[in-house]
Amino acid sequence: MIKYNLICANKHEFESWFSNSKEFDKLKNKKLLECIYCSNKKIDKSIMSPKVLNSSKAELDSKSLDDFKKIKKDLINLRKFVESNFEYVEKNFPEKVREIYYDKNDKKNIFGKTTEKEREELREEGIDLVSIPWIEKEN
Ligand SMILES: [Zn+2]
Repeated sequence: MIKYNLICANKHEFESWFSNSKEFDKLKNKKLLECIYCSNKKIDKSIMSPKVLNSSKAELDSKSLDDFKKIKKDLINLRKFVESNFEYVEKNFPEKVREIYYDKNDKKNIFGKTTEKEREELREEGIDLVSIPWIEKEN
C-alpha cells in the first residue's frame, strides 16, 4: 500500500491509499479519481502539505538539534578513536592500503583520504574501506 497526498483542480488536498504507484496512474487515466470535497476529477499528486507539520514544528526542531548534537559528539569520539588507534597516511593512501591488504603479516590499521574513484578501484580489488564523516572538532 502506498499513500499519496492528492490535490484537485480547486486546490483541495486530501490523502488516498493505493495498492501501488501504477494503480494511481490507472485510476487517474480512467478518470476514476475524484476530489472528496468537490468531486472534481482533475486530481494530481501533491507534495506533503507543510501545514501538517506546523503544530509540532518547534518540538521537531529542538529534537533534531539534539539528535544532531548527539551524532556530532559520536563522530568526534569516532574521530578521536581513529586518530589514537590508526596510523594516519597522508600521501598515497590507496597504495598503502594495497600494501597492507596483500601483505598478510602486516595488520596495521591506517586511515587517510581517498577520492570516490580510488575507493571504487579498491573495492573492485576486494578491498572494502570504511568511510566515516570527518568532523571538525571546533565549531
Ligand atoms: Zn476539490
